[in-house]
Amino acid sequence: MSFYQEWERAAQLDPLPGILALGPDDVERALSRLAGSGRRELADFAALISPAAEDYLLPMSELSQKLTRQRFGNTISMYLPLYLANHCANDCSYCGFSAKNKIKRKVLSANEVDLECRHIAAMGFKSLLLVTGEHERMSGMAYFREVLPVIKPYVSYLMMEVQPLSADDYRELVGLGLDGVMVYQETYDRTLYERHHLHGRKKDFRWRLETPDRLGEAGVDKIGLGALLGLGDWRTDSLMVARHLRYLRSRYWKSRYSLSFPRLRPCAGDFQPQSPVTDRQLLQLICAYRLFDPEVELSISTREGPAFRDFLMKVGITTMSAGSSTQPGGYASGGRELEQFAISDERSAEQVAAVIRRQGMEVVWQDASAQHWPQSSAPG
Ligand code: SF4
Repeated sequence: MSFYQEWERAAQLDPLPGILALGPDDVERALSRLAGSGRRELADFAALISPAAEDYLLPMSELSQKLTRQRFGNTISMYLPLYLANHCANDCSYCGFSAKNKIKRKVLSANEVDLECRHIAAMGFKSLLLVTGEHERMSGMAYFREVLPVIKPYVSYLMMEVQPLSADDYRELVGLGLDGVMVYQETYDRTLYERHHLHGRKKDFRWRLETPDRLGEAGVDKIGLGALLGLGDWRTDSLMVARHLRYLRSRYWKSRYSLSFPRLRPCAGDFQPQSPVTDRQLLQLICAYRLFDPEVELSISTREGPAFRDFLMKVGITTMSAGSSTQPGGYASGGRELEQFAISDERSAEQVAAVIRRQGMEVVWQDASAQHWPQSSAPG
């Protein structure tokens, strides 16, 4: 039994016509229910991501801010991505790292990883997200066994965004110091998934969908979910992310959870998103997730621009990256020719930290929740 069975049942019905038909009464009912402390229902989340809820952004933002401060205090946690390799055996229609693209490839040696870590430590970060393409031979378990012991002494919280692995592999990596894994389904629409994932292991929709189950079984502390916003219909995918989160919480209640919002841009390369998500819609979505799950971490990366990030940090976001390089070796070399994508917020980590402090919040350079709050204590 895994989330796959729940997904199979839910995917038989298209929820979009129902979401589009919701009206102001449905939104107001959902808001008043979610303002209390009762059970949080998917139907209420659906109302908050409906077009009708676009007129309720102010009360949604105020409630989201209140719930976030109640749970996370006046803090924003900072993390940094460390790109280790850009080899990839997959072919995803929307990504420049795809195997078919003739780009310069690099995998950092243990010495180069150590050099990156020294630069990152000097920037003040204690929480790292290791990123690779998905390539078992160039950056698979043998590589992780080699580099995790190099990295771990520099950090207090270590996360990965790499190819999906088996539960036994995750258990081994936990033993080497792994704390969290981000694994984005991209889209929960299987037909669309197969259209955009053309070659390689990533073609296997079910293997990817069941990855968070394997993470829960392996006892990984934090599991990160998300959909690539704009690839499919964002409302349909976001509702399935909420369903996935609810399922995982009820089954693997010792783990903590984090949601991210990678957004495809209309101008990113040749690829045109099917349903671009506007700034207002992304704000609506972030507030809806916070109201649906007051304990989940909400993370925003430097894909988003400075002004929008500065605004979002006040209404529900708990975790941010800053000063990021998306190129293997980019912190030590300052190079940019191997970047996965150009970041939108180019401010240094200290500049972003100064903005956070000016907004009356404290900057936490390590994983704040692990230090100061108990884990979620009961199935939701
Ligand atoms: S999205 Fe990930 S798996 Fe797909 S080509 Fe890019 S790096 Fe590889």
